[in-house]
This record gives sequence, C-alpha cells and structure tokens, in this order.
Amino acid sequence: MSDVLIIGGGFAGVWSALGAARLADQRLTITLVAPGDDLVIRPRLYEAAPAALRVPLERILQPTGVTRLPAVVTAIDTDRRSVTVTRVDGQPADLSYRRLILASGSALRRPALPGHEHLFDVDTLPNAVALDSHLRTLPARPAGSGRFTAVVIGSGFTGLEVSTELAGRLRALAGPAAHEVRVVLVERAATLGPELGPGPRPVITAALDELGIEIHLNTSAASLDATRVLLTDGTEIPAHTAIWTAGMMASPLTRQIPGKRDHLDRLLVDKHLRAPEAPEVFVAGDTAAASADDSHLTLQSCQHAIPLGRYAGHNAAADLLGLPALEFAPAPYVTCLDLGAAGAVLTTGWDRAVKLTGSTAKDLKRTIVEKRIYPPLDDLEEILNAGDPERAWK
Ligand SMILES: Cc1cc2nc3c(=O)[nH]c(=O)nc-3n(C[C@H](O)[C@H](O)[C@H](O)COP(=O)(O)OP(=O)(O)OC[C@H]3O[C@@H](n4cnc5c(N)ncnc54)[C@H](O)[C@@H]3O)c2cc1C
Repeated sequence: MSDVLIIGGGFAGVWSALGAARLADQRLTITLVAPGDDLVIRPRLYEAAPAALRVPLERILQPTGVTRLPAVVTAIDTDRRSVTVTRVDGQPADLSYRRLILASGSALRRPALPGHEHLFDVDTLPNAVALDSHLRTLPARPAGSGRFTAVVIGSGFTGLEVSTELAGRLRALAGPAAHEVRVVLVERAATLGPELGPGPRPVITAALDELGIEIHLNTSAASLDATRVLLTDGTEIPAHTAIWTAGMMASPLTRQIPGKRDHLDRLLVDKHLRAPEAPEVFVAGDTAAASADDSHLTLQSCQHAIPLGRYAGHNAAADLLGLPALEFAPAPYVTCLDLGAAGAVLTTGWDRAVKLTGSTAKDLKRTIVEKRIYPPLDDLEEILNAGDPERAWK
C-alpha cells in the first residue's frame, strides 16, 4: 500500500512526486510508477541527437525517498483503490493506494492512412531517435527524387518547430547537395497554425518564407510510401521523409477514472485537481483539463504540466495529512515557439500578443528548454524546493 501512488514519470508525474514529498517530509510513502528509467524532455524531441534528451529519474527521486517502480499500469480500480501493473519482467502485480495521481501524459494520434508505417513522428524518444537515424541515412542515398525532401503534416506547435528545425538540419546533412533540400508543411485547415491564433502568424509566415519552407493549406496526407507522399488535393510529392505531428490525445488511462472528459480525453478536474467523481484521485499534466483562469482550460504543455504536478502532489499529500488544499493557480500564459534558424517568437496572454522575435526570443527559448524545464538533480533541498506549488513556473 502506498499513501500516494503516482502514475507517470513525465513532467507532471515527477513534479507531483516533488510536491507530495516536499509537504509530506517523510511522513507518507510515495511511489511513482513509469515504464522508463528517465524523465524524457519531450519538448525538445524535434531537435538533432534526441537520444540524450532525458534525465535519470533516480537522481531526482532517490534523494527524496520516493520509491520508483518500473512498470506499465494496465488498469485502475477506483472502488478498490488499486491499480494493476505489468512489471518490466512481464509479471503482473496489484498496487493499492490511499491517494492516486494520474499523470500518464498524452500520445500522438497517428492516422491509419495507406502507408502509415512510413510516417515518422517526434512524440516519443524512440520515435525521435528513429527519425534522427533515418535522416542520417539520406546523404548515402542516390541523388534527386526526394532524397532531401521532408513533408511535415500538421502546422501546430510541433509541426512548426519540426519543419523550421528540419530546414537547417537537412541542409547541414546535404552539404553540397543543399539545393536538393525541400521542406513542405501541410495543413488541413485554411490557415497556418490554426490553434496559435492571428497574433504570431505574420512572424511565423515570415520565418517559413525566410527558410524556404513550402506551405500547402486545406489538404492533408492521403497516402504515402517510402519515397513519396500523396496529398488529399491530388498533389504528389517525391519525399523520403514524412513526419506526422497532428493531434495529441490524453492517455487512455483517463477512461478508467469515472468522470467527464473533454475532446482530448482529458479528465475535467476541480480547482484542487481532484477528479470530482473519484475524490481519492488527483489528475495532472496532459491527462488533466483544469481551469487555468476564469475562462481558459490548461493546455497540453510543460508550462502547465509542471505546476499541475506541483499542486496535485501537494494536494494529495495535504488530503492525507489533514492540511488545507491549494487552489491551482498557474503563472500567466506565454508561448515561446522555436523557428529554427529564423529565431523564435515569444507571445504573452491567451490572445498571443507578440513580445519578442528573432534571436532574442531564441535565446529565451533555449533558456526555457535547456534549463528551466529540467528538475534539479541529487541535491535534496533544491529538489524539494522545485516542488513548491506557490513558486511561479521558474
Ligand atoms: C515535439 C514536442 C514539442 C513540445 N514543445 C513544447 C513546448 O515548447 N512547450 C511546452 O510547454 N510543451 C511542449 N510540448 C508538450 C509537452 O511535452 C507535454 O505537454 C508534457 O510532456 C506533458 O507532461 P506529462 O507529464 O503530462 O506527460 P509526459 O511528459 O508525456 O509523461 C507521461 C509519463 O507517463 C508515462 N506513462 C504513460 N502511460 C503509462 C502507463 N500506462 N503506465 C505507467 N506510466 C505511463 C510515460 O512513460 C511518461 O513517463 C511538446 C511536446 C512535443 C511532443
């Protein structure tokens, strides 16, 4: 039996563990279940050399006394307050809990179109590594016919970061054959980056233009094979690389908790991040739809996963220790979008007013993804401080 059982070793799960451990001060048993040994730095998976983009969970959790169990959760029984796991040795086990924190993240919804097995993505570390390895094979292929052409499907946050990064990466790989490089961004909607709104669009459009990225709106991929992509508008693009970026859905474990879910399958939670119909369950990160302010729900982002984790961990521990719960209150919303060699764009507020562009925004983006979203390691005091929910998103 764990006092607090956390499902997931991503941003929300790790910061839940820190939030709970900080408040509990060794008075509760806390267990974190996740299949991998590392916190994967998912927001950087569009970068080159993704294999290094991880942090050992042991160096975060071990100093705090949080127990780590490498396993996959296959079922949750909220009546019995237990979860069923499959351990890494393949053996099943049941774990009981007093409070559960669901932080099992989200996953890209890949399409079932003909040739989908040729699609790459940057949603998980293994898939990002597979793309990186594939790109490194391109220079040895025969010249021409789409060798250095990449088609990126979806122009949301991930599609924009992938395509702008790829423009530079393919040119570096191509060397003297740089004239062969072609990056094509495909968007089903009539506008680029539909969920980003009109604010940053001129900056994004100018960056894509500067990098020579082609844009195809009102279309999507219809089918593909290893060397070409056919779009739904009939355009055929010789391309050795196709990357799917559209559509992240919450972990299917959300369906095992009673309660309402939104269109992304996230559980709607109360202001303390509790699942209203399963009061022993708290929800954080990409599995939670929480109020970020009076008129907006949280987004599937690190920016929200980290504070959601802090509050969920704190409140789960507070519930057991008879202490008051804290109302979730994230820092004001900002977006910092990487635009490859064209810099970045920083926006503030939900209407995404542009505040910084170019290399200044790029420096900030690097600081965020290379420093601020990393947890402290080894040092107990620093690690526990990072779990303080009332600290603004660093
Ligand atoms: C390419 C890319 C770029 C991004 N860029 C940004 C950005 O610039 N800014 C930003 O704020 N956000 C960005 N995001 C989004 C951000 O990465 C996610 O919102 C964040 O990772 C969510 O944290 P999480 O802990 O909820 O989920 P995750 O980080 O996905 O962690 C989920 C954890 O749960 C575990 N898990 C899953 N299923 C089970 C199970 N059945 N049993 C046990 N454990 C399980 C996983 O192994 C993992 O440890 C980006 C995402 C991607 C893919």
